[in-house]
Amino acid sequence: MFSERIERLSGSLIREILSLTQRPGMISFAGGLPASHMMPCFDFTQLPAELRQYGPSEGEPILREKIAEHVRQLGIQATAEQVLVLSGSQQALDLVAKLFIDPGTPMLVEAPTYLAALQNFKLFGADLHELPLSAAGIDPEQLRQTAQRTRPACCYLIPTFQNPSGYCYSPETRAAVSQVLDDLMLPLIEDEPYRELAYDAVERRPLCAGLKQAPFIYCGSFSKTATPGLRVGYLVASPKLMPYLIKLKQAADLHTNRVGQYVLAKWLDTPDYHAHIATIRQYYRQQRDTMIDALNRHCQELAEWETPPGGLFIWARLRKPLDTREILKTTMARNVAFMPGEPFFATPVDTAGCIRLNFSHASADAVEQGIAIIKDALQDAFVN
Ligand code: PMP
Repeated sequence: MFSERIERLSGSLIREILSLTQRPGMISFAGGLPASHMMPCFDFTQLPAELRQYGPSEGEPILREKIAEHVRQLGIQATAEQVLVLSGSQQALDLVAKLFIDPGTPMLVEAPTYLAALQNFKLFGADLHELPLSAAGIDPEQLRQTAQRTRPACCYLIPTFQNPSGYCYSPETRAAVSQVLDDLMLPLIEDEPYRELAYDAVERRPLCAGLKQAPFIYCGSFSKTATPGLRVGYLVASPKLMPYLIKLKQAADLHTNRVGQYVLAKWLDTPDYHAHIATIRQYYRQQRDTMIDALNRHCQELAEWETPPGGLFIWARLRKPLDTREILKTTMARNVAFMPGEPFFATPVDTAGCIRLNFSHASADAVEQGIAIIKDALQDAFVN
């Protein structure tokens, strides 16, 4: 009855956990939810009447201009014609898969990487090859060798405040990775929804900004800076990829909601926008520090972690390679949720021994309580 593709459709563990975290009294470090009370309030009353009509598939011209301006500031030399506004940056992953992947097409991804990207690439039948990720990024030499061996159609990377790890490529790694991609003319899909959530003043150039000739698709989002409910994200692509991407967007949903695009474009022009970014950075930095402090006091014997310089996640590596899905069952019985590490790997792993902790959503008290409960569960699992 269904397509062959449906056989490859996996459920998302995160969505299952998220539905359970709606239970009253639950402390959740599972989802990547921005803090609701930090989201801007938009005025939806003074909207131009024309927004009620169908709009251009590429996106609202004023928003495309603003996005082009933004990425140029990051060093990506792009015009508004290279911008495609999307229904969340998640849509970029769908369009990318349709553009590059047939069943069996080789593709490179980080290990670990974004769960919903894996779900999507697998649905289209990608033959995924993993590039192990460390706190400084992937190994550029390994990228070169793996690409030469597997001949991938493209490479999907999250170099800044990665999901799930919070890791961030060093400047050296950024330069070397861009060089390898250029040498091999390997198309890059660079996904950066967390870029603006930086908790230090370090400058981080997108990999796309370092490319001279390799084709690229740079993905960005307003979900973490404004609000995910609006579902507005974007991609910026090499000119020769644009005609295909625009047609794929037309075929997918005609265009992104015009109201959200308009409201965002107006907001980006106000001083409120810059003040808001400063405020959320400050708030999330504090949230991060609260969780790191709780981890330091409770979990040092049990796990290790880096302090992420931005983003929404801490990736804790257990000192024993356990199946963290089992540990989740124990903490869920005490109303605490986190994301087990196993689903973030393209190649199935029995025991990732890593967990992802989100620090943006829970209150300071809940963080203290929740981390203490995770400690108990880890201690039990270590001795059993
Ligand atoms: N890419 C990554 C790495 C993500 O973590 C997310 C969601 N948090 C997305 C893309 C999709 O974000 P959105 O569709 O809300 O822009």
